[in-house]
Parts: sequence; structure tokens; C-alpha cells
Amino acid sequence: MNVQAIDKAWETLERLAQGEYGRSLSDTLLVDDQSLAFRRTARLFGVYAKEPFAHSFPYDPDIPTNWAKSSRFWEIHKTPGKLTLRKHHAQYSLLEDVALEWGRPVEFIAEYNIALSLCRRVRPIVCGEAKALETQEKIAKELERSGIGVSPFSLNQGLGLAAVMVASYLVQQMPSLAEHPPIVAGTTLLLMCVGQRRLCKLMKDFEDSYDKKKDRFASREFYVCGSTSTATRKPCGALVREPGLRCARHA
Ligand SMILES: [Zn+2]
Repeated sequence: MNVQAIDKAWETLERLAQGEYGRSLSDTLLVDDQSLAFRRTARLFGVYAKEPFAHSFPYDPDIPTNWAKSSRFWEIHKTPGKLTLRKHHAQYSLLEDVALEWGRPVEFIAEYNIALSLCRRVRPIVCGEAKALETQEKIAKELERSGIGVSPFSLNQGLGLAAVMVASYLVQQMPSLAEHPPIVAGTTLLLMCVGQRRLCKLMKDFEDSYDKKKDRFASREFYVCGSTSTATRKPCGALVREPGLRCARHA
């Protein structure tokens, strides 16, 4: 990823942060409550994945189950059309992977589940020993001291090279991330704002805090799609809402 690609991904996250939290990405990241900053950024990854297929609904930021204090949530009600699936195939594939992991249909994957799944995948990289990430400790401290926000402008002012280094390291460690620039850019910004050690701890705490009460569809029962109109002619293993229904790939 180059500076331009990171800036473009940053713009996506900026737009989503404004919609979810009514504040800029900088204001989302650079708050005293770093745990909230982390949860909110991780949740944006879930919104990024769902947005092309979902509708948003108002959400009260102050109810206890609203784990990232967002002002809206997203639900997938309609089976995406072929054109939408093709145009946003990376995002839909991510949703399918996460759905499989949680044993649910794609429609019952909340932003929470996506954030947790991504956290589990990316944590070994963030918490691993790497020269590329060690320098982030220094950058995080400097950012803290100077009080400046991370923005496309500041990235170009010299932080850009550091951001590219971190983003490239993340993609090198997990090539599948290359399909999701907002996730790479968001994780990079978290590393730059929070630092490797603290981010590693925040990710561990987030995973440990899994709570069925915050997981809206944890106790529902689902059914196997079972369609044989697959590339391999083997029955599809995706889960659906009702017996006999077919998943979006075969609808
Ligand atoms: Zn299917």
C-alpha cells in the first residue's frame, strides 16, 4: 500500500466515523479512553464489510449493550443482487468467512461479530515481535506529546512513510488483508495512535470481553443451505434463516 491508497482508505473510514459516531476519525482515535477508541475503530471494520448490503437504523449510544457507543446499527434484510455481489465481492467474502466462523447466515452477523473475528485474526500480527511495529511506539508517543491528529495531510507531512511501512508489514503477514484497504489503514492508524504494546493489550481485552448479551443472535437456530449449484457440485455449507432457503450465492 502506498500513501495514496492509505489516504483513500482513510477517507472511507472518515466517512463511516462521521456516520456512526458523529465525529471525525481523528476525534474517534485520539480520545483519552483508548479502549473506546479501539472498539469504535474495530466496529468501523464491521460497518465497512456490511454497508454495501445493509440498511442503517438509529441506535442509542448510551444503552449498555451498545459496546462502541454508535448512533446507528446495520442490518442485512434483502438478499444482495448479483451485481452488488460482484461489485463488492471482497466485502461479501469477508462476511461469509465470519458467518461460517460464528455458525450463522450472513444476515445475522453483527458489527460485533466481525470486529471480534478480525481481532482474533490480526492480534497475532500486532502482538508479534517486529521491527516495523516497534517504531510505532515512538510515533505514538510523539503524537501524544504534540497533540496533533492523524490526517491525510499529516500522513503526507512525514508520517506517510511510517504508515506505508506498517501497512505493508500487515499485508505481508496476512496477504488476504490486501483486499480490505480500510482494515489495513485503520489498524495502521491504531498502531500509530496507541502504539503496539497498548494495542496488543486492548485487542486481548476485547476478545476476553465477549458477552452473549452483546451478541444479538447468539442463541438462534439456523439451517444448512445445502444447494448443489456450487462450483464443485458439493452441497453448500452456508447457513440460512429457514429450512429450504438458499444463501445469496444460490438465490
Ligand atoms: Zn448456499
